[in-house]
Amino acid sequence: MATATTTDQLCRNYINGEWVESKSAKIVERRNPANTDEVVARIALSTREEMKQAIVAAKAAFPAWRETPPPNRGKILFKATQIMQAQKEELARLLTREEGKALKDALGEVQRAINILEFAAGEARRLNGETLTSELPKNFAYTIRQPLGVVGAITPWNFPVAIPIWKIAPALVCGNTVVLKPAELTPLCAIRIAEIFEQAGLPPGVLNVVLGAGEEVGDELVQNPHVQGLTFTGSTGVGSKLYAAGAERLKKIQCEMGGKNPVVVLADADLQLAMESAVTGAFGSTGQRCTASSRVVIEESVADKFVAMLVERAKKFVVGDGLEAGTEMGPSVDEDQFNTVLKYLEIGKQEGRLLCGGARLAGPKYDQGWFISPTVFDHVAWDSRIAQEEIFGPVMSVIRVKNFDEALQVANSVRYGLSSSIYSNDPSKIFEFVEKIETGMTHVNSPTVGGEAHVPFGGTKDSSIGPHEVGHAAIEFYTETKIVYIDYTGRQRESSLY
Ligand code: ADP
Repeated sequence: MATATTTDQLCRNYINGEWVESKSAKIVERRNPANTDEVVARIALSTREEMKQAIVAAKAAFPAWRETPPPNRGKILFKATQIMQAQKEELARLLTREEGKALKDALGEVQRAINILEFAAGEARRLNGETLTSELPKNFAYTIRQPLGVVGAITPWNFPVAIPIWKIAPALVCGNTVVLKPAELTPLCAIRIAEIFEQAGLPPGVLNVVLGAGEEVGDELVQNPHVQGLTFTGSTGVGSKLYAAGAERLKKIQCEMGGKNPVVVLADADLQLAMESAVTGAFGSTGQRCTASSRVVIEESVADKFVAMLVERAKKFVVGDGLEAGTEMGPSVDEDQFNTVLKYLEIGKQEGRLLCGGARLAGPKYDQGWFISPTVFDHVAWDSRIAQEEIFGPVMSVIRVKNFDEALQVANSVRYGLSSSIYSNDPSKIFEFVEKIETGMTHVNSPTVGGEAHVPFGGTKDSSIGPHEVGHAAIEFYTETKIVYIDYTGRQRESSLY
């Protein structure tokens, strides 16, 4: 039986329950971003034709999977939960080698995936509709939830385990079949996910994975008429085009995209707590999270004190190979991302006052990887580029404001609206902030990052379009509601319904 990779580590596609080698001659290498001497994987950029085959397989598998009673589907997901739990440490290490994040962050991500799998598995026994009374005698109505059909999932590299799982698990439990197109940079995590579902007993064709370029195999998922649902996480540029193209084909679509998330610190806040949170949110996972805290918006009266604490902590933030004990932050994911961050560091030096970091890290520990030191810019204007554009690196911009009203205005003055947080103990300001902040998620006295398995996830403005993900929101996205009217007399000819 073919396995997920060949002996020289060329990753295979998973189509109709088989591990098949792509016929494409376009091969790319994935190297460990902490040590570019190490080739982690080689992938073929699959052809459009191969993606079509995966979609055909998913379509063929759909009728039987849809007929499988939901609790039986749930049992397979519970099995997958147990397998992932047993492999947690190994999977987290793989994630760190492939994506670069510190092992503690990778372990956190895998645990989040396990929690989501478990939640989705439990939902198998709760795929309920509702019964409704009728205006007519001896009549009632009810609703049932039905799967969409074939779902295409296009995922990014920054959460290569959690994001595919939070799309695949609810889609499957609802009775859909899935074709996953993971990011080119993180093929091994996607393969491991498929292996886990295979071991859990998922029938052939119910989940398929095709590795390759977004413009080719990703685009086929958008264009193909047999794909009914499309779930995307990635950049706002790609997401907006994909949404338009998919909408034209009347697909059900959700897109999770960029963020420029503010941490608002008011003068009465616990400054130590706020500082720790801002640092975790800005530098954790190397700032490569759509919920990263990239802006601190702080009242002028406490700004000097706060910034001094922030810089002291940022300088001590331990950067290195994510697999080394004690590492708090790994490298940028690859050379492109690294160069993007360096470009913004130069822009930042023109726009703000550099307090720490601002450069590539040098030395034997760093020279083989894409390491950038945690960077803080102070006195940044709210409308400067580093305060407006998503950098996806360990870069924090401090924006000083006169008072709460200005803080709120600045926090909202970006195109994005994913996450935010406020640090204060003043209930009236906290509640006003919660009411008026233009983000899909907000946190009070806790970081902008993170989320729970049963709680919806999603943003507003240019960060998200379509229904939210995760929790019960995902069940709603991956199903359609059918409305049924029953007249159990079988005789009432004149209906009063209009
Ligand atoms: P990131 O900056 O996080 O890499 P992208 O939006 O470029 O974000 O990529 C996110 C996912 O979207 C990846 O799996 C990528 O291959 C895919 N993708 C990129 N371009 C397209 C496209 N034109 N159509 C479909 N998918 C795409």
